Amino acid sequence: MKYVDEFRDPDKARTLTQEIHRLVGRIVRDRGGLERPLQIMEVCGGHTHSIFRYGIHQMLPPEVEFVHGPGCPVCVLPMGRVDDCVALAERPEVIFTTFGDAMRVPGRNGSLLTARQQGADIRMVWSPLDALAIAKQHPDRQVVFFGIGFETTMPASAITLQQARADGVNNFFLFCQHITLMPTLKSLLGQPDVRIDGFIAPGHVSMVIGEQPFAYISDVCHKPVVVTGFEPGDILQGLLMLIEQYADGRCTVENQYRRVVPEQGNGLAQRAMDQVFVTEGASEWRGLGVIDDSRVSLRPEWRAFDAEQRFNPQQHPVADDPRARCGAVLTGRCKPGDCPLFGNVCTPENAFGALMVSSEGACAAWYQYRRSEA
Ligand code: SF4
Repeated sequence: MKYVDEFRDPDKARTLTQEIHRLVGRIVRDRGGLERPLQIMEVCGGHTHSIFRYGIHQMLPPEVEFVHGPGCPVCVLPMGRVDDCVALAERPEVIFTTFGDAMRVPGRNGSLLTARQQGADIRMVWSPLDALAIAKQHPDRQVVFFGIGFETTMPASAITLQQARADGVNNFFLFCQHITLMPTLKSLLGQPDVRIDGFIAPGHVSMVIGEQPFAYISDVCHKPVVVTGFEPGDILQGLLMLIEQYADGRCTVENQYRRVVPEQGNGLAQRAMDQVFVTEGASEWRGLGVIDDSRVSLRPEWRAFDAEQRFNPQQHPVADDPRARCGAVLTGRCKPGDCPLFGNVCTPENAFGALMVSSEGACAAWYQYRRSEA
């Protein structure tokens, strides 16, 4: 298949669905039944959204269940970090720039959106290069870019800092909240009550990091992995490949999304990330707690561009409200509809938890497509 229409073709989707039903039926027969449904984690919020949007969950046999993973960076942004953003943005000398989806994430004292309504100079940008342009236009101000996201957005942040240095810009800073995918998945797989049978690996992150990092999941944790695209045909085909591995007792990394994801990833992007960022030490993830070896920061030679060094924001961890079940949803221990706040206290218009903020968050996707089931 080559064009997007082909990946949305109902006949092809039907054929793939029939093949999944046939294979799952064979597994059930061969094993005399399954103790519980197969749990397949789609790591990325983009997959969650596609699954609900196209009704893929309704096309599957009851023995296959999706678990929505932690691959939405906004959803794992700790509340204390949002407070730090607001405190930075409220400084009179600062222009705070951010991607739009971070604007509504609630902190202890409101979001960046509420801070902007109260007068802070906060500007939404589409790219860190837009933030750099603002710094050049306002040499008398300190421009902070909030760098958030997995390896998908890290290269752009790295290249922008390299550009800022090349252009001699000294009023541009990165407030780094970048995160890397593998420490999260390793932490998830290390938890005794998490029972995931296979992973639909995120296409966008894989485009940068390639297939190799997922070998930990297949080789050490003995779980099948398929790097998968985002169209319905992609997801059904990726799922079929996963179930084939399960049926054959194989655990390997396969790539359904070869039209976008090279085996080795993007070498230029990897080099830019390595030159600017280092991953070391523990960091806090909302809903998941503190995860070892997951802290991404700027290398010492980039300190002059580090908002952390320049403004020294106070880092006060803030505990999640005990009623919110964000962490349990992120680890597949419950569904969004099981959270007592879902749809009443917590809605997309008035998000209480971060999974309701971004359209890629599992709770926002449930609210949009499966609200009536809750
Ligand atoms: S409904 Fe809101 S509070 Fe509950 S798990 Fe989802 S995002 Fe968290």
